[in-house]
Amino acid sequence: MGKNIIVAGAGHGGLTAAYHLSKSGYTVTVYERAAQESELGYEWEDFFDARTFDEAGMPEPATGKIPKVPISFYGPNPDDEPISQVFNNGEVEMHMNRKELYAHLLGLVKEAGVQIVFGCTIYAPILIGNRIVGIKTSLGDFMGDLVIDAAGVDSPLRTNLPDYIGVQKTLRKYEYVYAYRAYFNRLPGFEDVKNEYKTYFVDDGDSGITWAVTTEKTVDLLIARFEPFGQEEIDRMNVIFKADNPHLGDELVSGGQVTKIPLRRPIAILVADGYAAVGDSACMTVPIAGSGIANSLRAGKILADVICADRNEEYSAYSLWKYQTEFFEKIGNSSATIDMARTLLLNLKKSDFEFFFGNKILTSEDLSFNTNETSAKEMFSHFSPSIIIDRLKKVGANRSLLKKIGTLAVRVGKLRLITSRMPEVYSRADVLRWAKKYEQLFADTTL
Ligand SMILES: Cc1cc2nc3c(=O)[nH]c(=O)nc-3n(C[C@H](O)[C@H](O)[C@H](O)COP(=O)(O)OP(=O)(O)OC[C@H]3O[C@@H](n4cnc5c(N)ncnc54)[C@H](O)[C@@H]3O)c2cc1C
Repeated sequence: MGKNIIVAGAGHGGLTAAYHLSKSGYTVTVYERAAQESELGYEWEDFFDARTFDEAGMPEPATGKIPKVPISFYGPNPDDEPISQVFNNGEVEMHMNRKELYAHLLGLVKEAGVQIVFGCTIYAPILIGNRIVGIKTSLGDFMGDLVIDAAGVDSPLRTNLPDYIGVQKTLRKYEYVYAYRAYFNRLPGFEDVKNEYKTYFVDDGDSGITWAVTTEKTVDLLIARFEPFGQEEIDRMNVIFKADNPHLGDELVSGGQVTKIPLRRPIAILVADGYAAVGDSACMTVPIAGSGIANSLRAGKILADVICADRNEEYSAYSLWKYQTEFFEKIGNSSATIDMARTLLLNLKKSDFEFFFGNKILTSEDLSFNTNETSAKEMFSHFSPSIIIDRLKKVGANRSLLKKIGTLAVRVGKLRLITSRMPEVYSRADVLRWAKKYEQLFADTTL
């Protein structure tokens, strides 16, 4: 084999891997659908873990670190007090415009010698036998020694792999959301309204998450739904947002499109002969939060290290398996636990949320995790055994909720057992068997 690496799509993890590989002497080409650099990213601001660049082994942008922004969680009943996060002074997170993040990443990869081909739509992988050897694109076929799939949640590579490869092609309902995000003007005359990051668990009795983030000049809206939706739903939600946020104007400042976010554990098998998936194409978001930037960059670094360690330049499922095991050990197993916890959210009815908020079951401290807490350990670190017992006692009056929590605890235990039994060495039969068990555990979304 050789050192010719294809990165399919300019996803964040793919760019990270490209940066490290190019610096290590590989010939790396990124094939990207967007016509030019300025089309990458979105006109909105994202939060992500302040440790990201350090852990991804990349230079940090000059700006972006800000004190952690507390979120206020609102229940369905407007009379109930919101639960507002509290952070210690000095805690920081990254807050960057997505286009500026892309400009930073692209600057680094170009400086490292990576070639980027814009205006290139990828259609499908090219296979010889079991091995992925290239990509079919609008600009012709391109062959490589390894294809890194960084083409996002609907990757044309992952979704077109033959079944026998074993990489999961399609996602089930509730494993991704359609998200509308738009910034509107903030009306004058409401100077007394404080800047606030409001998240609503249940808006009008429908399931889904929404937010309205008020800043000095804008109100940033998010509507996330498990079904595709259009202008009618956006208009309906606008009325609801306005009732609670009278300072919300009608002038669209930026954003305004619906995009898909994977919201589940990572896919069970990340690699095949000549192929590795990274970022949203492998569902590396934090399942409850959807914050996939940090995990994509971290995974890109792990992948690059494993490729560089493959002295025989095989890039086979066998040699790339180390990427899988290391990723799951550091990130994936924890994401799977968070995904299992998410099952509880999917099973809560409006009345359950009312019960939680009305009876003050959870405190500000319980919910004070944010984009820096991307692992289950960090997210739930506050829940000591005595706190868990206290919260369960409060839930005690709601028998059906208690039963759901009990069922969830049993499933988390089973999940831990299964993730601890991921094969250490790649053998197709063992890996397929393990992947089936991992996926089956999530097949039942009812508690
Ligand atoms: C509304 C919204 C808000 C979010 N907020 C946050 C946040 O605050 N913090 C956070 O960490 N994450 C956030 N995320 C999630 C985050 O965007 C992703 O998890 C992260 O960017 C990793 O995705 P990716 O780079 O792998 O894929 P993508 O960002 O989807 O990039 C894939 C790339 O592949 C290209 N591509 C796709 N198909 C083809 C094709 N056929 N041919 C060629 N190229 C192709 C695309 O053009 C794109 O450049 C948010 C996502 C959305 C939608």
